[in-house]
Amino acid sequence: MRQYNASKKMLVTGGAGFLGSHLCDRLIEQGHDVLCVDNFFTGTKRNIEHLLDHPRFELMRHDVTFPLYVEVDEIFNLACPASPIHYQHDPVQTTKTSVHGAINMLGLAKRVRAKILQASTSEVYGDPEIHPQVEAYWGRVNPIGIRSCYDEGKRCAETLFFDYHRQHELRIKVVRIFNTYGPRMHMNDGRVVSNFIVQALKGEDITIYGDGQQTRSFCYADDLVEAMLRMMNTGDEVPGPINIGNPGEFSMLELANKVIELTGSKSKLVRMPLPADDPKQRRPDISLAQKELGGWEPKTQLEEGLQKTIAYFDQILSESKAA
Ligand code: NAD
Ligand code: UDP
Repeated sequence: MRQYNASKKMLVTGGAGFLGSHLCDRLIEQGHDVLCVDNFFTGTKRNIEHLLDHPRFELMRHDVTFPLYVEVDEIFNLACPASPIHYQHDPVQTTKTSVHGAINMLGLAKRVRAKILQASTSEVYGDPEIHPQVEAYWGRVNPIGIRSCYDEGKRCAETLFFDYHRQHELRIKVVRIFNTYGPRMHMNDGRVVSNFIVQALKGEDITIYGDGQQTRSFCYADDLVEAMLRMMNTGDEVPGPINIGNPGEFSMLELANKVIELTGSKSKLVRMPLPADDPKQRRPDISLAQKELGGWEPKTQLEEGLQKTIAYFDQILSESKAA
C-alpha cells in the first residue's frame, strides 16, 4: 500500500458524511492534519465523534456554496448529498453545492496551490448505452429530469475541474464513484443497500422498485477510500477521470435475496413504482484504475461487505430502541 511521505494539511469537504468520515479516519491514521468541513445536511457528528478530540482533527460547520479561506495542501471535495431522496429534497441547492461548491473549492485550491480531488459519480453516464461504462463514454443524461440536479451538477463540476486544470494549471484528480455502501450510510437516505438492510432487520417489506431486474455494482467503502487516496497520490499526468467501484454486478432482486439470506429475515418482497430516469444497468470498467492506481482493485466482495453493514445497522437499531 502506498503511504504519504510527510504529514500534510488535508481538507475534506463533506467529511461528516458516509464516505467523507471514512476518508477522515484514513487520513488521520496516515498522520495528516485533517480539516473536516460540513454543513450537516446529510452528514452527522456521530460519524466523526471518535475524531473530535484528536489533536490533528478539526471540524468546521460551513456550506461550500460560500467561499472558504483556509490554508491546506490537498482538498478532497466530497460535499454533496448522494442519495436521490436527499438530493431531490432541494434540487436547486444540490446544483449549487456541486457547481458553486466546485468553484469555491477550485478557487481555494488555486489561491493556495493545493492539489484537489473531486468525488464525481457514475451518474455522469446517466442511463448508459455502453456496458460496462468506460471513462471515454460521454453518457446519456436527461438534462431536465428529477435526477438532473445531481447528474448535471456533477458533470458541470467535472467541466470546471478540467477548465481550472487547463486554464490555471491546477493539479486536479477526478474520480467517478460507482454505488458504494458500508457502515455509516444514512439509515433513512433511501439508497438501496441501507433500505433493504433496515427493512430486513425490522421485518418490514422489502421495497423493490420496478421489476427488480435493474442492476448496480456495489463497492465497499474501505475499497473506495483506498482508491481515492491512491488517486490523490498519482503523478500530475493523471488528472482522471477514473472510474472507481466494484465490477460485481447484481440485480436488485438478487441483492434483496442476499440481504434476506444474510439477516435470516422473514421480510417479503413488495413491488413499488420505478422512479423516473432510474438507470437500467450500471457496472464500472475499472481497467484504468487498476493501471493507474498501483494495481488497486476492490478486495471486499458483496457478501462480506453486506455482513459488516448489517452488523452496523443492527447496532444502530438496538441503540435507538434502547434510547
Ligand atoms: P453523504 O450524503 O453521506 O455525504 C455528503 C456530505 O456532504 C454530508 O456530510 C453532507 O452533510 C455534506 N454536504 C452536503 N451539502 C453540503 C454543502 N453545501 N456544504 C458542505 N457540506 C455539504 O454521501 P456520500 O455517500 O458520503 O457521498 C460523498 C460524495 O461521494 C458525494 O459527493 C457523492 O456525490 C459522491 N458519490 C457517492 C457515491 C456513493 O455511492 N456513496 C456514489 C457516487 C458519488
Ligand atoms: N431501489 C429499490 N428499492 C429501494 C431503493 C432503491 O429497488 O428501496 C432501486 C432503485 O430503483 C435503483 C437501485 O435500487 O434501481 C439503486 O438505487 P440507489 O438509490 O441506491 O442508487 P442509484 O439509483 O443512485 O444508483
